[in-house]
Amino acid sequence: AHIALLPAGGEFGPDEQIMIQIEDQTEQYRANTLRSDFIANASHELRTPLASIIGYIETLRGHAKDDPEAREHFLGIMEKQAARMRRLVDDLMSLSRIELSEHVRPGDLVDLHTLAREAAAGLEPQRAQYEARLTLDLPDTPMLVKGDRDQLVQVLVNLIDNGMKYGGDGAGVTVQSAGEDTRYPGMVGITVVDSGPGIAREHIPRLTERFYRVSAKQSMEKGGTGLGLAIVKHIVKRHMGDLAIESTLGQGSRFTLWFPMAKGAAQDSAAPESIE
Ligand code: ADP
Repeated sequence: AHIALLPAGGEFGPDEQIMIQIEDQTEQYRANTLRSDFIANASHELRTPLASIIGYIETLRGHAKDDPEAREHFLGIMEKQAARMRRLVDDLMSLSRIELSEHVRPGDLVDLHTLAREAAAGLEPQRAQYEARLTLDLPDTPMLVKGDRDQLVQVLVNLIDNGMKYGGDGAGVTVQSAGEDTRYPGMVGITVVDSGPGIAREHIPRLTERFYRVSAKQSMEKGGTGLGLAIVKHIVKRHMGDLAIESTLGQGSRFTLWFPMAKGAAQDSAAPESIE
């Protein structure tokens, strides 16, 4: 805590009034610590591929100079490391843009089913790469929410991509409407389910932390940045929504996005209007 003794009217006057100002700085201290941890982590994440690229430049100048095969091999590694740096910088920029937009309520009326179809279509190259089975089990009726369409597509892309990426060979990923749930009154949900290895219970509360990974090795191999679910959390927060994560080891994981139902909009799960 920070305590300041201040004379009430500038200089101590003849009546010697004193105003005591007490300010709790715990929150601010915590925020500062989180920020500097984040900068340290981000720098470390960028430094690793950079060190590798610098190392390979030296190798290319040295003994690989006159060996076209070795040169190709090292250039391939450098390209991968540079691509990793680009993904990291893109995700860091996304996070900072989302944070800047956080105090502005998104206002477009959007259909989550349409956005899920868009997200899935954009992920076709990844689906082919992972040889995943992606199923969209969505009704034709809309699921309307107020939102920022690009950010909501990004949320769905990150969840579907994770399902395919961590789902193992030939993973099965399904996007389905969660409709309404009494635990989330006034909200509608959309779920991304995968048939992958699942996530141990102790990791679940920490998955949305920046740079938190269950297995650093696996995330690196799959080209992960460790920021995907942090981005999801921030976008969901901006939309006054919620992210529910359920997982069973050996069976798979289920990520459900909940958003406030757009007022006055007909939802697919709404009961038909009764005629009095
Ligand atoms: P990354 O870029 O590493 O994928 P994310 O923030 O998207 O970062 O996810 C954090 C971690 O959560 C991942 O490294 C992975 O260990 C775990 N994870 C995320 N989604 C799944 C999933 N569907 N199945 C299993 N593990 C997952």
